[in-house]
Amino acid sequence: MSKILVTGATGHLGKAVTEFLLQKTDAENISILVRDAAKAEDFKSKGVEIAVGDYNDHASLLQAFKGIDKLYLVSGTDIANRSAQQENVIKAAKEAGVKHIVYTSVQHKNESENSPIAMIANSHLYTEKVLKESGLTYTLLQHGLYADVIPMFAGEKLLENKTIYLPAGEGKTAFAARIDMAEAGAVVLLDETGKFDNKYIEIAGSEAVSWNQIAAIISKITGETITYVSPSVADFTATLTQAGVPAEYIGFFTGFGQGASEGEFDTTTGELESILGRKPVTVEEYLGGVYGV
Ligand code: NAP
Repeated sequence: MSKILVTGATGHLGKAVTEFLLQKTDAENISILVRDAAKAEDFKSKGVEIAVGDYNDHASLLQAFKGIDKLYLVSGTDIANRSAQQENVIKAAKEAGVKHIVYTSVQHKNESENSPIAMIANSHLYTEKVLKESGLTYTLLQHGLYADVIPMFAGEKLLENKTIYLPAGEGKTAFAARIDMAEAGAVVLLDETGKFDNKYIEIAGSEAVSWNQIAAIISKITGETITYVSPSVADFTATLTQAGVPAEYIGFFTGFGQGASEGEFDTTTGELESILGRKPVTVEEYLGGVYGV
């Protein structure tokens, strides 16, 4: 049995992957990399091996990866520095003798600098390249957008102002629940047949929905009339700037809105469904859990 290490295991995705692994294999086969061991007490009590380390700290990674066969590398949160951080992880993994890295990349189409999601996609593309060139076995899980981010894009006060305001046009997104992506990650990690080796796999929902459809779904769930408005980027920027939203956030929302509008996230490959062996949670089911009574 391969020994698996999951990074980011005190975050949402890595924690869920580790929990699925615990359901499917013995704890002795699982290690996790965490920055703060105090946050991993629960896993420790279940017999999971805890390694403390940071993507910035080569020595800590080398120590953590000793004896590991497969690594689940959760993409970092420090967007400006994660190309270098993730390269550190790949180099340390190779040096420590890790055989296979499963990396959580992003679903995308446009790989040029003109891509509206270049600000996040570039570091994923760089990591994909470094991993491919490392000579290690790789699996590139190109995650679509989490259904879990819909409430953030729809706005915290959605049920007060009843309007979704995002420059996403009529573009569709194949949202999938993060929990399903985590389960798929665990299945990939536990596969011993090699069928996921050296593959790019788009992990997204089985249906793509527009923000107009999302507004209709939330209206149905809540009984309120929720309207979707897609402003021009100039109007969106002006409105949010006037409301005091920092430029960095405006850029982030604009990038994802434009990305959706240009169809960056609308591919439904059925890969997630096939890996899970069941239908993934739909957007309507997911939002029912958020906005339903
Ligand atoms: P999350 O809850 O913020 O978890 C990120 C994890 O990465 C945390 O455990 C964090 O450690 C760890 N981490 C960050 N920098 C690190 C470093 N320098 N060294 C070691 N560990 C580090 O995010 P998530 O929801 O699980 O999502 C996982 C990743 O997917 C995110 O990091 C982001 O890249 C990406 N993402 C994708 C979507 C999508 O819609 N597809 C949405 C949001 C994020 P701590 O627990 O110590 O903070």
